Amino acid sequence: MLDDTIAAISTPLGEGAIGIVRISGPQAIAIAETVFVPAVNKFWQKQTYKLVYGHVFDQTTGKIIDEVLLGNMPGPYSYTGEDVVEINCHGGPAPLRKTLELICRAGARPAEAGEFSKRAFLNGRLDLTRAEAVIDMIRAATEDALQLAVNQLSGRLSRAIDDILNELLAIVALVEAAIDFPEDEVEDYSPAQMAIRLTAVIAKVRELIAGAEIGKVYREGIKTVIVGKPNVGKSSLLNVLLREKRAIVTAVPGTTRDIIEEVLNLGGLPVVLIDTAGIRDAGDEVEKLGVARTLAMIDQAGLVLMVADAWAGLDAGDEEIIALLQNKRGILVLNKIDLLQDGLGQVKNELAQKLPAWPVVEISALQEQGIKELEAAIVDLVTGGLALPADGVMVSNVRHKNLLFKALEHLTEAQEAVGTGLTPELVAVDLRAAWETVGEINGRAVTEDIVDKIFADFCIGK
Ligand code: GDP
Repeated sequence: MLDDTIAAISTPLGEGAIGIVRISGPQAIAIAETVFVPAVNKFWQKQTYKLVYGHVFDQTTGKIIDEVLLGNMPGPYSYTGEDVVEINCHGGPAPLRKTLELICRAGARPAEAGEFSKRAFLNGRLDLTRAEAVIDMIRAATEDALQLAVNQLSGRLSRAIDDILNELLAIVALVEAAIDFPEDEVEDYSPAQMAIRLTAVIAKVRELIAGAEIGKVYREGIKTVIVGKPNVGKSSLLNVLLREKRAIVTAVPGTTRDIIEEVLNLGGLPVVLIDTAGIRDAGDEVEKLGVARTLAMIDQAGLVLMVADAWAGLDAGDEEIIALLQNKRGILVLNKIDLLQDGLGQVKNELAQKLPAWPVVEISALQEQGIKELEAAIVDLVTGGLALPADGVMVSNVRHKNLLFKALEHLTEAQEAVGTGLTPELVAVDLRAAWETVGEINGRAVTEDIVDKIFADFCIGK
């Protein structure tokens, strides 16, 4: 099935100290032999799981392309389960591209996105939850998000899913025995017994679903936008937040002007600030970027920080923005409290009436007062006070969560069928559907389409 050999540059293209070209498949070693000359270890093929020093050269011209370290990892003890050779080149586009070109000339096929991981799955080296954890690790923006992915990669989720599958299989076997031998008393098969076991499985599925919401937030972060009329202190607030907690800055490509995303790390929660560049450049996004743009930003956001000037009070400009915020989740940030002599009862009450579901936090961006409280309010609102379990199993992938919901439906139907005294045949239909649905999570029951779709989400070389 996997009789061709694939190759790709497995590190990001750009300048770096090293870059790696990975080859996987039955011809990996033979192909490497055509491009690699060892400096010392003539029989490098025998030096497995060690790095061998040498050169990549172009056989047709005899020219040396790069000075490299080569790692030979024969299957099945490799990432893909096949023979894998990795060549550590110098990390510039030219040596990497040339090396890959030579390898492809020698018979390898350029790998598709995620193809190495897909092979790892098809060869039984990784189940689907673990393969997906590999993407999550690469994309993790904070340590907690990384920890979630590491837990998933270590197979904890996979084992929890396997436990559910095994129990379901045992129940299905009982029901089928009752179908096949209706005359005999099948041990353990009674509606009461079934109901107990089904309730236990349902509880396990529910537990995984409950953890999913919070897992998603920690993995993907919460998209946040800061809004407010001119001069209320949006950029001052942004700068204070970034100075304390900046995690990562990324550019989102494919937009007219690449949108800058800055990620704050609030106790492990990645808070992704949308279009912070816009806030800084334009000063006032409503006036200069227009209401439509502001609306679009608010639309995308899972959380809005609405900044108002506690000293100047509210006016039509604030009202205009507040009107855009109905049905959104957010925090009212009353800024410039350092200017107040005698409290801010009036403004605070007015604001609280306009957006009653929103917590109000008082700050001074200038004097850095109330920032900790604001950060705590953000975390509280987004996580609903739920902490990330330190070593628990947590579903953080949307695909997994949807499948768990679907499985829960089938299981509930099975439970109802048992409860209302339906025949074992009818119970079995729901149970089998539940088993297949849960099996799609880790790949024990999965179609080729689903596999292709999952791995297409990977980057080239992974
Ligand atoms: P933006 O237009 O909403 O981004 O507002 P800026 O952050 O540019 O702030 C506008 C003005 O308000 C600047 O002169 C800031 O120094 C000032 N400012 C911002 N935050 C505070 C604050 O907490 N207290 C005081 N007194 N002034 C502030």
